[in-house]
Amino acid sequence: MGVERVRLLDSGSLVIDRSHIMWNIDTGNPTRFPVYSVLIEHTDGLFLFDSGYDRGTVEEYLAFEEPDQTEEQTLPAQLDRCGFATGDVDAVINSHLHFDHCGGQRHLPDAVTWVGKEELRHCLVPESFAALGYSDRVFHRPDSAYRWLEGEEIDFADGIKLLRTPGHTIEHYSLLIERDGQRPMLFCADVTYTGETWEKELISGFHYDPVANVTSLRRVKHLAKRLDADVFLTHDMDAWESYKHAPDHY
Ligand code: ZN
Repeated sequence: MGVERVRLLDSGSLVIDRSHIMWNIDTGNPTRFPVYSVLIEHTDGLFLFDSGYDRGTVEEYLAFEEPDQTEEQTLPAQLDRCGFATGDVDAVINSHLHFDHCGGQRHLPDAVTWVGKEELRHCLVPESFAALGYSDRVFHRPDSAYRWLEGEEIDFADGIKLLRTPGHTIEHYSLLIERDGQRPMLFCADVTYTGETWEKELISGFHYDPVANVTSLRRVKHLAKRLDADVFLTHDMDAWESYKHAPDHY
């Protein structure tokens, strides 16, 4: 019972200024960063934590982020590399609904979506400053099946915990994977972007509540230390290149 394999699915890369990676620091330095999702093979089902971005949507709304995504880096191709079809995914867990975390869900119409209810509401009716971040809402259809993430610490399935880490967006969750005899894996999502911002406790320039964001960052740092977890950074190119990429697995 529990988590059998964990794979990182490559979704390509994007460019933003370094001052958006670390809020207000080091302006004028465009930086390319990776985007990926996490595929979890579990005895209870096949789960996906976030789903990457959709190239067409980014070209339409955020072309300045210079999307670099090959056909091989689309979600259906990445699943295929692992021996799965899009219809095999039982559920998607969204850390939050920024376009680079939910864009692949257009390929998964039958999967259940687990997300914070307030997060969905803010995605569908964004504050003006957040509208670009929430520019991909294709996953939301009349027949979309949602389940709500509620609580500080959710036991999603045996060995899969979701931790409420708000601030980057109104309802943001990080992922903790625990298996017997292995170091826990902590996917902090957009609580912070890189190894440097993890160390310096800096947050990105995109946020709903910066103080809550820093509090969430300290919470996951404390947890990572207490559990001696391997921390997987979300948008750090050097770190990404050091990780195993699908179809390799953890
Ligand atoms: Zn984000």
